[in-house]
Amino acid sequence: MADCLFCKVVAREIPARIVYEDEELLVFEDIRPQAPTHVLIIPKAHVATVNDLDPSHDSLVGTITRRAASVARERGFAEQGYRLVWNCNAGAGQTVFHIHLHLLGGRTFSWPPG
Ligand code: AMP
Ligand code: ZN
Repeated sequence: MADCLFCKVVAREIPARIVYEDEELLVFEDIRPQAPTHVLIIPKAHVATVNDLDPSHDSLVGTITRRAASVARERGFAEQGYRLVWNCNAGAGQTVFHIHLHLLGGRTFSWPPG
C-alpha cells in the first residue's frame, strides 16, 4: 500500500527501531511509548483493520500473538503480566490503518482501559 505508514516501515522507507523480523512479521518500538516496553507487532502484508481479517490470516494472527509472548519473556515481564491491544477503527483509537498488536509491559495496568 503506497500511502501506508507501516508498509513504509516494512520497506525501510521510514526509520524504526526494529527488534525482530522474519518473513511474515516485524516488531518495532512504538515512537510514543505508553509503558517501559511498548512495541508493535505487525504483519508485513498490508491488512487495514482487524475487520479485514479472513480465515487465511488465522495462522498469522496466532504467530503475531505468540511473538508478543516471546518478546515479553525476553524482556522479563511475562510472569508479572502485560497488555496486548488491537485497536480497531477510529472509535477505539486506531490511527494507523495497517493492523498492529500493541505489546505494553514493564508496569502494572488498570482495567477497564480508557
Ligand atoms: P493505533 O493508535 O492503535 O493505530 O496505534 C498506532 C501506534 O503507532 C501509536 O501508538 C503511535 O505512537 C505509533 N506510531 C506512529 N508512527 C510511528 C512510527 N513512525 N514508528 C513507530 N511507531 C509509530
Ligand atoms: Zn500497510
